Amino acid sequence: MKKNNFLSDEIGSSLGSISGPFSVYIHIPFCLRKCPYCSFFSVPATPGGCEKYLDLLKKEILFYRAFLGKESEASTLYFGGGTPTLLTPEQWEGLLAFCGENIPISPSAEITVEANPESFTERHAAVWRNGRVSRVSIGVQSFIDGDLLWLERPHNASKACDAVLTAVREGFSVSADLMFGLRNQTLRSWASSVKIALELGVEHISLYQLTIDEGCRWNSSPPSGMADGYPFYRWSQWFLPRKGFSQYEIASFSLPGRHSRHNTAYWRRNPVLGLGAGAWGFLGEKRYRNEGSLEEYASSVRSCGGSVAGIEPVSGEKAAREAAVLLLRTKWGISFDAFSHKYGQAMLDNIRDTLRREAPCDCLSETSAGLSLTPKGMRVANALWSLIV
Ligand code: SF4
Repeated sequence: MKKNNFLSDEIGSSLGSISGPFSVYIHIPFCLRKCPYCSFFSVPATPGGCEKYLDLLKKEILFYRAFLGKESEASTLYFGGGTPTLLTPEQWEGLLAFCGENIPISPSAEITVEANPESFTERHAAVWRNGRVSRVSIGVQSFIDGDLLWLERPHNASKACDAVLTAVREGFSVSADLMFGLRNQTLRSWASSVKIALELGVEHISLYQLTIDEGCRWNSSPPSGMADGYPFYRWSQWFLPRKGFSQYEIASFSLPGRHSRHNTAYWRRNPVLGLGAGAWGFLGEKRYRNEGSLEEYASSVRSCGGSVAGIEPVSGEKAAREAAVLLLRTKWGISFDAFSHKYGQAMLDNIRDTLRREAPCDCLSETSAGLSLTPKGMRVANALWSLIV
């Protein structure tokens, strides 16, 4: 625990040196059951377990509050999971009130909660509205029952529709996660899911290709017959802009002004305080991770208030290359002035020359002010990243 103590103090000091806006990510690691393709940190929810976890989170918030400078303010808060809707509305009421009292939150902050259709209720929505939540990001994945069954999700299409309708009706800015590359998925069934999301009133869509990463159940015996994702992604790039949705990031489309400010803070390498078991944060050119098991998280928070398990400094050339990749994920791309000011003209020239020389044609859009990816560039982004890092 001494190590956690030392590392948490180091991250606390980095937080203390911030004199402007920062973002906060709070991880709620509980799920009903583990989806077979999921390698995120999550554990089965138990009533007593959630309550204990919330007590620990509050202790961790108090630990960092002691470091915060007078000038710093959270401009975004994001409650992610896991399945945050497994907390009861009463637990949410307590957590949001505690955050409001102990984190300096800007009056114009974006506050997002992730919701899963099977556990999101009107009572959650009412408590969130009172607690200043502005965005709800719903783990829909698909509006096709067959897709959801195959993914072993605990909700069906009708539940997904209800969840989106409830969140829209309650006045939140609603985002839906949708997944492509599924078994037996066709362009027609994918298009149907995307169109239903739009008809229900979402203002933001995050599109993910199903991947079978290390650590998930399907990794040892990957399913067969998964659809090639490329046509689905390409169709979405064609269709969504016709409906007023701009692709502002590789996996993200939104109506004007409805992009995720929290995620944009990550891509711009702005400071992020990560709280909770398994959370990641980024403060003062250091990426850090909290303990990734509930037991270790609990024991560390009880003994020293924080739970930092590891810190990776990201500075110099490494920071510049990472920044280039993150910025190019977004439609705003690299601003030459800002990039050279922060990382040096030589670094900018190096990255720009490499891309000009090696990137396939029609992948880059360059002006006198900056460089970004074209829709084609976004489709082949992984190949471009290997040129930069
Ligand atoms: S995919 Fe989401 S709901 Fe499923 S186990 Fe992972 S975090 Fe939980």
